[in-house]
Amino acid sequence: MRRLGWAMCGALAAVSVLAGCSGGPTEADPSASHRATAAPSPNASSPSPSPSPTPVTYPLRGSGTYSVAAGDSAVLGRSGSLLRFRVAVEHGIDNLPAATFADDVVTILGDRRGWTAGGDVRLQRVGPGRPYDFTVYLVTPATRDVLCGTVFDRYTSCQNGNSVVVNVSRWVHAVPYYAGDLTGYREYAISHEVGHRLGHGHELCPGKGRPAPTMEQQTLGLHGCTAQPWPYPDGKRYAGPSGEYPLVVPTDPKSYYRTD
Ligand SMILES: [Zn+2]
Repeated sequence: MRRLGWAMCGALAAVSVLAGCSGGPTEADPSASHRATAAPSPNASSPSPSPSPTPVTYPLRGSGTYSVAAGDSAVLGRSGSLLRFRVAVEHGIDNLPAATFADDVVTILGDRRGWTAGGDVRLQRVGPGRPYDFTVYLVTPATRDVLCGTVFDRYTSCQNGNSVVVNVSRWVHAVPYYAGDLTGYREYAISHEVGHRLGHGHELCPGKGRPAPTMEQQTLGLHGCTAQPWPYPDGKRYAGPSGEYPLVVPTDPKSYYRTD
């Protein structure tokens, strides 16, 4: 049994800018006249304006049951052995359909900078009732500990056997080290944990100021590196020396169960 991949730890400070994924102030109250001059206009200067989706919400502990995304994706990658995976979202996580999370996972794994770029593995998401090699779960903080089989954590994500377990708290709020780059952090989270399932262990920052390898525990801190999600950032494998940093998980409930 491969060791657990405790990946995504970080500090407890809030990431304050979470493009469209975190509930922020709204201007829906028509009686709030004091807000009239403070209401932000749609950000016309944003490079990719998108409608604000309803914020993802979740309880501390979900039901332990799941919705598995339907249908099959295309086969990702050009060569190598084929691994099939399911994508499952725990019931209780609201406003994030399994299909939406599944699309993000497939996009990340099929990226030209992702694991399939190496030509030694192909990946395909499959729907319910189909044979599969592993499952990518999106779960609540307390269920994370159950599926990872560890002591109290609630903050990081992990890989445990054929379970790739993504903590919804990190998926929605990321970590301070990614400085508001929620997309980048999600790319890291999926790449790192699936990397464990593909047989990759932890790696260290290779030098001050250099990009972090995807198998560095970037949730825990960057250790002098800069945030970097991908295993093949320039189409070429980028790795650091084998090794890992101590797993120090913030225990303040606000770190893993933010409701804002
Ligand atoms: Zn890890």
